[in-house]
Amino acid sequence: MSIDWEVVIGLEVHCQLLTREKLFCSCPTDFGAPINSNTCPICLGHPGVLPVLNAEAVEFAIRAGLALECEVRARSVFSRKHYFYPDLPKGYQITQYELPILEHGKLFIEPESGAARTIGITRIHMEEDAGKSIHMDTGATLVDLNRAGVPLIEIVSEPEMRSADDAVAYLKALHEVVRYLGVCDGNMEEGSFRCDANVSIRPRGQAKFGTRTEIKNMNTFRGVQRAIEYEISRHIEVIEGGGAIIQETRLWDEGAGRTRSMRGKEDAHDYRYFPEPDLPVLVLDPAQVERLRGTQPELPAAMRKRLVSDYGLSPYDAGVLTAEPVLARYFEAAVAAHRNPKAICNWVTSELLGRVSATAVGECSVTPHGLARLVALIDDATISGKIAKTVFERMMETGRAPDEIVEAEGLRQVTDTSAIEAIVRGVIEANPVQVSGYRSGKVGLKGFLVGQVMKQSGGKANPGLVNELLDRLLAEG
Ligand code: ADP
Ligand code: MG
Ligand code: ZN
Repeated sequence: MSIDWEVVIGLEVHCQLLTREKLFCSCPTDFGAPINSNTCPICLGHPGVLPVLNAEAVEFAIRAGLALECEVRARSVFSRKHYFYPDLPKGYQITQYELPILEHGKLFIEPESGAARTIGITRIHMEEDAGKSIHMDTGATLVDLNRAGVPLIEIVSEPEMRSADDAVAYLKALHEVVRYLGVCDGNMEEGSFRCDANVSIRPRGQAKFGTRTEIKNMNTFRGVQRAIEYEISRHIEVIEGGGAIIQETRLWDEGAGRTRSMRGKEDAHDYRYFPEPDLPVLVLDPAQVERLRGTQPELPAAMRKRLVSDYGLSPYDAGVLTAEPVLARYFEAAVAAHRNPKAICNWVTSELLGRVSATAVGECSVTPHGLARLVALIDDATISGKIAKTVFERMMETGRAPDEIVEAEGLRQVTDTSAIEAIVRGVIEANPVQVSGYRSGKVGLKGFLVGQVMKQSGGKANPGLVNELLDRLLAEG
């Protein structure tokens, strides 16, 4: 008899907040500063110094919580979580424990497999990051404390995911939300968006959860997927082989494609949590929370809906455009300058994204305004769609405006009937074989003749006129 196992997954996500200063001191948070330069007595944990809470970090945390439909706690408390590690100078981390700033939220997910649904968010708390240990080839370990004290939010989900696909969908949805809000840059490789996955299995129908393991050290969505899938099969193998899963923390080894035991799981009492005596209770003014609620930016899911309903885009195109906040903004800026959303969408998704990555469109030499102007030139028949591609190339190379390029290079569409007629007559004369073929019924040959005319006009003849004139002159003969 084989057992029908149900998988249970809960995720803990740490997001580094994009504040200018650290959580309890005014050291800068910029990534890549010289080692140990972004430090001061507060984040170095010198005795006798006092932490002061960064108001911007509180605001960012609340914005994330509101986007995830959390309740905002009017009073929340910071606590000390004790552990020893060389990158933790104070010997404890200031975090929130019993009374976090945000609770009871939810996030809508659309997994690759399985049903679209809402996943509960248990809590979001604020805390400071630790420093970074750098392990040298020589065996020595160096410590960089630039990151010590950088503000984080930890977003804890309910154990409501049932597959690796669910977990990846949750992470992607969360990633998108924090990036749209601008509260986190979402850079997984640099560690500003980190995920720990708690995984267990139980026979389907059983109410009690199985023993869980917690996996750390995954820094791509693909890594999360593989690590969870590996861990699920490991649990099944161990349990079906008569063994038992022990509750522990495991590390994902990307190269080996497996998880390894790192340490036994600590219990909360090991950390000897107690309220941080150097910080007052965090009391929030309801008016401030309402002001933030009223000024929340549009979230990606709402934006996708709007692109479909207001602009008539397909859900697929709306998805491509909103995959990156900068790309969505680029598109909207272009449409604001020239209201032809479908054409602008085509140019963005094919030509623009064919040349620059979605994250880099903000620095591209073709500005939203320039692209809008290019589409306007096609729409008012100043240039043909084909010539527009040439103009687009020049815009990419030179950053010049499309009007300037069209004028400087003489690319205006020829709509002068007599000029086109002369070319059409020339082409008919030069291609007697195709012309008589066409007249005896091989209508497909017209395409060849159109091509010849377009070629001789340098692509500038108005294609509608060319067709019209060809039809007339071929019928005359
Ligand atoms: P910690 O890991 O810090 O002890 P919690 O006990 O609150 O914190 O759990 C952390 C995460 O583990 C949460 O996302 C929760 O949903 C998930 N979780 C708890 N129990 C299980 C379980 N048996 N299987 C899978 N995930 C679980
Ligand atoms: Mg945990
Ligand atoms: Zn500092």
